[in-house]
Amino acid sequence: MSGERDDYVRRVRYQLPPGPAWLENRAEAIRDRDGRLMYVRGTSQDVTEQELARQSVAASRDFLQATLDSLAASIAVLDETGTIVMTNRPWVDFAAANDGALADLGENYLKVCDRAAGDQFADRAAAGLRGLLLDPEAEFRMEYPWPGPGAERFFVMRASHFTGPGAARLVVSHQDVTTRRQAQDEVVSQARRLEEAGDYLRAITNSMGEGLFATDIEGRVTYMNEAAEQLLGWSQHDAQGQVMHDLVHNRRPDGSYFPIDECPIAATRYGDTVRVQDDTFIHQDGHQIPVAYTASPFRTDHGAQGCVVAFTDISERKAREQALLRDAETLSWIGRIQTTLAEDRFLLYAQPIIDIGTMQVVQHELLLRVREPDGTIIGPGRYLQIAEQYGLIDDIDRWVIRHAMTIAATGLPVQINISARSVVDPTMHDQIERWIQQHHADPRLIVFEITETALMVDETGARRFAQRLHDLGCKLALDDFGTGYGSFSHLKQLPIDSLKIDIEFVRDLAVSSASRLVVEAVVALAHGLNVQTVAEGVEDAETLAMLHELGVECAQGYHLGRPQPLSLIDGERRPLAA
Ligand code: C2E
Ligand code: MG
Ligand code: MG
Repeated sequence: MSGERDDYVRRVRYQLPPGPAWLENRAEAIRDRDGRLMYVRGTSQDVTEQELARQSVAASRDFLQATLDSLAASIAVLDETGTIVMTNRPWVDFAAANDGALADLGENYLKVCDRAAGDQFADRAAAGLRGLLLDPEAEFRMEYPWPGPGAERFFVMRASHFTGPGAARLVVSHQDVTTRRQAQDEVVSQARRLEEAGDYLRAITNSMGEGLFATDIEGRVTYMNEAAEQLLGWSQHDAQGQVMHDLVHNRRPDGSYFPIDECPIAATRYGDTVRVQDDTFIHQDGHQIPVAYTASPFRTDHGAQGCVVAFTDISERKAREQALLRDAETLSWIGRIQTTLAEDRFLLYAQPIIDIGTMQVVQHELLLRVREPDGTIIGPGRYLQIAEQYGLIDDIDRWVIRHAMTIAATGLPVQINISARSVVDPTMHDQIERWIQQHHADPRLIVFEITETALMVDETGARRFAQRLHDLGCKLALDDFGTGYGSFSHLKQLPIDSLKIDIEFVRDLAVSSASRLVVEAVVALAHGLNVQTVAEGVEDAETLAMLHELGVECAQGYHLGRPQPLSLIDGERRPLAA
């Protein structure tokens, strides 16, 4: 103190029980008027509390500083005037690297912003910070570009209000978001590319005639092209997210349900492409669509998995195939009819005709059958039509008539069907006359069933045939009455003995008043012409009782006796059912 200094202060740490203590020792020089040192005044004060508080403030400030320094963003703390009271290391480094870009400690940040007035981002920053100082509830965020030495960089500036003891009022941060923005841009452009790719895909797949849909790994529909929408009756919107299997493939053609594991499309789950030539999808309205399809599993680079199914409606192909099969069968029948005749494999079944009043069998209708080489018996539904179409019916009719003669020759009454073509064949009645004489058959035991079709083909020819047979003593029945020509006018010109009421009006007689009216009318007409009525296709007792009540004389049908084979006994053919 002898020198120039007049005072001396020293804080001393003592290690005292129970802990450290600080004393502030102060020495003060007391001088006379001439400046000579008179004496030194010393004081000693316990400043332990003060020292501990100071240390803790310093420690928390250091802690705050270290924390701020560890952040990537550049951060500054401003007081209420905008003066920077604290910065972190990134702030300092950035300011150093970008001359004048940020303000230094002690500078007024608002003024720094004002210096760059005119720059839209600097203006916004200044306005934002001022706004925050006025309104503590406000928030400020701004993204701005920064022309770096290399590529342009992007920053986000944030500022928020700080309320607490001390001078700090605002915390300002600048964060480099270039990488995040690039990643975002990448995602956006990828999405745009995907969308474009989606548009292309849609355009391409919509131009295909094939139906196409895609599913995810769970089998849920993710995509459908227009053809698939049309063929399946589902809109992509409604189908999206639904399990494809439930939509189109849950039933077999016979209507039974497909267990999902048996569904061929489900097999694509195990990494197989499936090709199916002939299958059925179910339309939204429930009808079945014959399809051929290929189902392929896929896995994209991004890990999306699923299955793409391309399918075509093969209805037309199937119809063509079926038509071809039918044609082939038709053609095969042309040859088969000839071999059946040659190999004598046609045969006649007999079905009893009953007098409803007495319940006695009064007649048998002979019905044509084919015995296949394997023993199967085939009814005439298919081959008679073909025989008529391809001119083979004459041979069949002649075969039937000759066999009927041999049966009639044994004394059994028979009723046979004869095609329109034979009815109008001018040589036919002479032929029949010769066979009757040849077989010594009683013509009165033979009933010829003709249909109205013969009258349509050649009315004069049909009338001549009927008259000649009538003159010979044979009987005539008009078969399938009510389904054909529909004109009764010629009935009285034909020597008809009976009218066979078609099964169509008999089948539902018990429930249909229309059928009842038809039967009533036919009975009235027949009685007016003195003609008998025979009801075809009687399948139950109720119908039989009604027919009796309506005045129908005879009946034929499964209820009374099915067509049965004629068996050969001692060279004679007799119906078993008689
Ligand atoms: P159609 O002359 O009207 O013969 C009656 C048909 O009805 C027969 O069929 C007979 O089996 C069937 N039928 C009899 N009762 C019932 C019944 O209760 N319910 C049902 N649902 N059906 C019954 P099929 O034998 O198949 O003969 C069909 C047609 O073929 C015959 O109709 C006839 O037009 C023709 N046809 C049969 N045999 C000959 C033949 O030898 N020559 C000619 N040219 N045509 C024949
Ligand atoms: Mg008949
Ligand atoms: Mg009939």
